[in-house]
Amino acid sequence: MSEKKLLNKVAIITGAAQGIGKSIAKKLASEGANCVIVDVDLQNAENTTKEIVSEFAVETLVFKVDVTNFQEVQSCVDETIKKFNKIDILVNNAGITKDNLVIKMTQEEWDKVLDINLKGCFNFIKAVSKYMMKQRSGRIINIASVVGLMGNPGQANYSASKGGLIALTKTVAKELAARNILVNAVAPGYIKTRMTDALSEEQKKRLQEYIPLNRLGEPEDVANAVWFLSIEESSYITGQVISVNGGMYM
Ligand code: NAP
Repeated sequence: MSEKKLLNKVAIITGAAQGIGKSIAKKLASEGANCVIVDVDLQNAENTTKEIVSEFAVETLVFKVDVTNFQEVQSCVDETIKKFNKIDILVNNAGITKDNLVIKMTQEEWDKVLDINLKGCFNFIKAVSKYMMKQRSGRIINIASVVGLMGNPGQANYSASKGGLIALTKTVAKELAARNILVNAVAPGYIKTRMTDALSEEQKKRLQEYIPLNRLGEPEDVANAVWFLSIEESSYITGQVISVNGGMYM
């Protein structure tokens, strides 16, 4: 059997109740990482945690946290330190869409998406970096999106949040590099989750035509990139955006 690359590491994954976040948590757990499952959806977060515990020999914590609420974020991070004494990996994955054309977009639609997708990441980065700086090590991986790189009509709020997240990634990478904390982003293309389930078969078919690899991505495709950015072998990579998009944007 091959050696586990994340044995005894501690990873916090936000939005891990389902979709890409769940897949990331399972991948990191399969490599030996103890996982802290964070989501607003406590029921599904607990189900994910149970699955991880039954499939992998790792320890877990589960928290109902709204990433926009700094007090909740801080206490989740403090509780993680109390149990595990360290945080090796933070994956900022929680995110939502509220699509509309700019001309029709409400203040509420703009604020909600920016608050969760961008400020939520800032909140977690701020809370973990105090501990990672003391440790003089850490990995922060932000889940951005292809539309944060290329824009997309109907997603002004979402693309701005993900473009902002890419800029945040680069700035924090520069601020924390001296303490051996590596900060990168993964930018998925269209991945099969609840977010893309909303598309009609016709829309999915049309999308596929723009993807050189001619398929939508699987959550595991994103999880594999996150895993790579978590392991020792990627220790000279920081401030980068890894695209996982089947070639749809190069
Ligand atoms: P998903 O299936 O909707 O899962 C997202 C999870 O985050 C849900 O459990 C959701 O809970 C939770 N969440 C929402 N708001 C939260 C908050 N304020 N605090 C904590 N948790 C919160 O989404 P996904 O498709 O896996 O996407 C995961 C990430 O990948 C997102 O950042 C998304 O932007 C990015 N991404 C996805 C795709 C794609 O094609 N799917 C492409 C590019 C990038 P509720 O269900 O209760 O809202």
